[in-house]
Amino acid sequence: MRTITFFLVGLTVHVVFFLSIFDIYFTSPLVHGMTPQSTPLAPPASRVVLFVADGLRADSLFTLLPNSSSRTPYLRSVIEETGTWGVSHTHVPTESRPGHVALIAGFYEDVSAVAKGWKENPVEFDSVFNESRNTWCWGSPDILPMFAKGASGDHVYTHTYPAKEEDFASTDASRLDSWVFTQVKSFLQSAKLNSTLKASLLEDGNVFFLHLLGIDTNGHAHRPMSQEYLDNMALVDTGVAELVSVFEDFFGNDGRTAYVFTSDHGMTNWGSHGAGHPSETLTPVVAWGAGVNEAQRVTDPQPYEDGYLQDWKLEHIRRVDVNQADIAPLMASLIGLPIPVNSVGVLPLLYLNNSNQFKAESMFTNAIQVLEQFKMKMSQKKETTLSFLFTPFQLLTESKQAEFTQKARILIQLEKYSEAISLCRTLISLSLDGLVYYHTYDRFFLGCSVVLGFIGWTSYVILVILKTHVSLNRHPNLTKQISSHSLGRISVSVAVMITVFLLIQRSPVTYYVYCLLPVPVWYSVLKESGALTDLIRSAPSLQLWKCFVYFVLVAFGIELLVASFFHRAMLTLGLAVVSLWPLLLGLFDKAKSCSLSWFVACLCLAVFPLMPVVGRDHNLHLVACAGLLTVFTSACYLWSSWQRTPLHPGDRRQFFTQMIHVAVCACVPFLTHSSLQQKQGLPLLNQIVSWSTLASSIFVPLLSSTRLFHRLLSIFLSLISTYLLLSTGSEALFPPVLSWLMFAWISIEQEALIAQGVSGRQELSSIDFSANIDISNIRQLKLDDVRRSYFFVFFIITAFFGTGNIASINSFDPASVYCFLTVFNPFVMGGLMMWKVIIPFIIVMCTFETIQVATQLSSRSLFLIVLVISDVMALHFFFMVQDYGSWLDIGTSISHYVIVMSMTIFLMLLSVVTHLLTSKRLILWKRPKMHFP
Ligand SMILES: [Zn+2]
Ligand SMILES: [Zn+2]
Repeated sequence: MRTITFFLVGLTVHVVFFLSIFDIYFTSPLVHGMTPQSTPLAPPASRVVLFVADGLRADSLFTLLPNSSSRTPYLRSVIEETGTWGVSHTHVPTESRPGHVALIAGFYEDVSAVAKGWKENPVEFDSVFNESRNTWCWGSPDILPMFAKGASGDHVYTHTYPAKEEDFASTDASRLDSWVFTQVKSFLQSAKLNSTLKASLLEDGNVFFLHLLGIDTNGHAHRPMSQEYLDNMALVDTGVAELVSVFEDFFGNDGRTAYVFTSDHGMTNWGSHGAGHPSETLTPVVAWGAGVNEAQRVTDPQPYEDGYLQDWKLEHIRRVDVNQADIAPLMASLIGLPIPVNSVGVLPLLYLNNSNQFKAESMFTNAIQVLEQFKMKMSQKKETTLSFLFTPFQLLTESKQAEFTQKARILIQLEKYSEAISLCRTLISLSLDGLVYYHTYDRFFLGCSVVLGFIGWTSYVILVILKTHVSLNRHPNLTKQISSHSLGRISVSVAVMITVFLLIQRSPVTYYVYCLLPVPVWYSVLKESGALTDLIRSAPSLQLWKCFVYFVLVAFGIELLVASFFHRAMLTLGLAVVSLWPLLLGLFDKAKSCSLSWFVACLCLAVFPLMPVVGRDHNLHLVACAGLLTVFTSACYLWSSWQRTPLHPGDRRQFFTQMIHVAVCACVPFLTHSSLQQKQGLPLLNQIVSWSTLASSIFVPLLSSTRLFHRLLSIFLSLISTYLLLSTGSEALFPPVLSWLMFAWISIEQEALIAQGVSGRQELSSIDFSANIDISNIRQLKLDDVRRSYFFVFFIITAFFGTGNIASINSFDPASVYCFLTVFNPFVMGGLMMWKVIIPFIIVMCTFETIQVATQLSSRSLFLIVLVISDVMALHFFFMVQDYGSWLDIGTSISHYVIVMSMTIFLMLLSVVTHLLTSKRLILWKRPKMHFP
């Protein structure tokens, strides 16, 4: 197979397998076509006012000042006197959109919906706003439109400020909240004079939604412990107090207004959200007004063991925790709306100040509403499955459903309300389990076919390696021609059988892809199986025990890498083991300084996975230190190499300039952050330096000579200077140490080749990247190359997890791009952070390129081994993808799978870049001669 076809087929297989997890694990849970359910009794409130303080943490609101007073006196008095409070537990991803969907529509958006777009509304869904008579919303243009768009008819009115107001650092973000409060006040003022508006405001079943983005914006810019964040909280408290009196005034103190105050997600100490840390998932909820219970004094210990009650000095007031989705049915019940049809929330009865009959009826409505979804899901699955293959959810068959609902009805009629309520709760939890059961019905079948295809592909790659890159005793296979013919016929008939089966089942189009793809893959495997017989025939000449030892070592190594995705400290262990490699090889005596340098560099690098992830603590002195270290080590290195071969004056000038550049870049972050702290904004000069460094980082190395170490040093220096600008703490030291280790690796590999007595080897210092590789010198793969490839994968993973973990890469720390810009711009900021993540990869890739050149291998053969290693890892992570348990685990498990699946593809693309980066040279000063044909 040609390289390009191989690449394309490999790409297709990986893309299909990657996308398959969205059909296997992450399909939309929503079903459509249910009838809305509402309680037949009169609701206690006519309207509900929902305040969402975006990004407000539970502990920020509930913690008292040292003098036992509160920053938010109004809400505190509600908690202690007039309302009910608790912690609302949100799900990962703790972002604004999923948080608001859970609050207002009562379900947790599936990950695929989040991936489809932030502002767009990927699926039609029902919400409290949609069920309301009228909803008026004020707030951010990022949040409000999706609910207006999702609602049928035009009874959801939005009032938003322009998007450019959401500036991160320069102005005071609490203006966003003042804007909302002022707008609501003037809206109600104008309604007094507008009779049609007033009439619709006085109707029952209205919702007022105030989205307060200031706290979130201040938290991102200044972190949640900052005065700005806390002041903004106080401003919101005053605003809420004022608005409550304005509302009461407008409606003539009719006692028919309910209020709910909560937030969509919290925020970490370092000003980010998105992951599943308690600071992100614990949000406050406070409800008061019509239909809501007043504060309940308790003397017994409460059933919460997290210690927060003591911290917040609220042991004496009953706390009622909810899941975020429970707030939607709560609001619906307060004003008598049907519960949103896709809601999975359970009505938190302890919030309701109402008769037991009302509570039981509401719970019954809630149970029927969830059961409706279950029934719809079951009938959909039944329709698309052959009847003899269909296994229903045993705990909730059709007869059991009828039994449950009948019994609950009778209990309510007999006024046995508490029994009815607990029966309804059981029905809800069974229905939710059943929903999951039918939702994951096809999982086993799809999983099997994907795994089959995956194993087939990996076997195929192994056979290709054996066939083309390993010297085995080849035997002409006479029976091959015949068998390949019948093999083709068998494959076609299997494919036809699968298609017919899927047609009968009326399966979705994507199922055909997952089930049919293994057929051609296994066809190719069986066709290439001749390589396997060759291997078996040459087995006597191979050192079997050595192969076995290698196999076991690499298997352990892969397990270590898989484990390092969960515990970064595993990389430390790995580096410690790897540091002993020259010793085990017996190289220590032959190349003392090399081995020692490798040993020390490994141990230095081993420290990084033990340190906290990027963005936790800012220490800009460390950034300056990293710059100094880089300049110092490269100067030492140049001096020592100068002793052996004098530098060309042009190279000397270039290295000198680059070292000065690194020194400048080491100072810029410090100056920028101190200027920002003094509120003087980002200095223009710093911004110019930063952007020009970024722009030139790829081109500057192209000016240097293509001699191996010179080019590498130039690449490393220019990448490190960009990295320094994007650093805020200890992670700045990572690329210099990594580069040092990479230099040591190249030297040791060379020593290892000498030790093995490989002929035709070149002196390292004489290797030139741009020289054409002598084809006759390219050697076949040896066992040791498996180790080389493994080292490469190991260093790539170290480059990725050395300074952070998945959560730190997903979540957002804007401080690291402050040298470039301070105005919030997700694309530019995301791009810059992406580049920061990629820089260590390029350092490792360039080294790998060097090792291929220096050890006379074709770049393809080593890459094939890398492909096998990463595919074995991907298969691990395929089984570890979860859609249950804590939401952090779910997000992480997908990210792991994505990373490993895309690793090879990404590395192949990156290898093209690094090949150009190492072998091409730009000549600026001499004009090339022109030829006119
Ligand atoms: Zn938010
Ligand atoms: Zn935010």
